Amino acid sequence: MRLTVLGNQGPFPGPEGACTGFLLQDKEVNILIDCGAGVISRLQKYCKISDLDAIVLSHLHSDHSSDMFVLRYAVQAKLMTKTMDKAIDVYTPKTPDKYYKELDFNNVFNLHNISDGMQLNIMGFSFTFYKTAHPVECYGMRIEKDGKVFAYSADTTYTENIIKLAENADLFLCEANATENIRKTSNPPHLSVKEACDIARKAKVKKLLLTHFWFEEPKENYRGDAEGEFNKVELSEELKTYEI
Ligand SMILES: [Zn+2]
Repeated sequence: MRLTVLGNQGPFPGPEGACTGFLLQDKEVNILIDCGAGVISRLQKYCKISDLDAIVLSHLHSDHSSDMFVLRYAVQAKLMTKTMDKAIDVYTPKTPDKYYKELDFNNVFNLHNISDGMQLNIMGFSFTFYKTAHPVECYGMRIEKDGKVFAYSADTTYTENIIKLAENADLFLCEANATENIRKTSNPPHLSVKEACDIARKAKVKKLLLTHFWFEEPKENYRGDAEGEFNKVELSEELKTYEI
């Protein structure tokens, strides 16, 4: 498996940045995980829209899904001009209702609903979904292929479910939106860097990659909070590919 970080910012992107989106690939398979603002533009550096095999959305907050609402126009046009021959399979929570309904657009997406504990084989990748603690229905995912495990926290506050999701993962991509500095003035519904490191330690993951950065918060603050908390931790970098 290999994972390319298309965007790692939230809840909105900075100049030249993008919100959450990751391209998971293996040989011929292309799966997009989350599709926030700026992701579709960057995706096409690596993969044509017509070559996407599936899209998996952790939840329907806009910083993880807003580009779906422009991607639908691309797919509609490509189906009409026959530069694409089928709708894209999309795996998503079925709430909040108003956003879910917007995905149901002119048959450009085949919608499949995900739920807690659900296991699915998507193009040879074995997915298991874990409900997270977030203001809307949201699922983290554990993905296994060829003996390797990739775990993604999605958005969450601290919950035991994330430790199970990440157990012994080769790569654990975990949101860590809140620094100690941010926590002084606000309490976003997200993990802090220290909490992400604590989960990684308890789950005994091999490598922790942090994501979902508030772009105005200096990266030194994220790095500083991680120091001494976990031995194999890195801040994810946009447009970088990680081998799993
Ligand atoms: Zn969210």
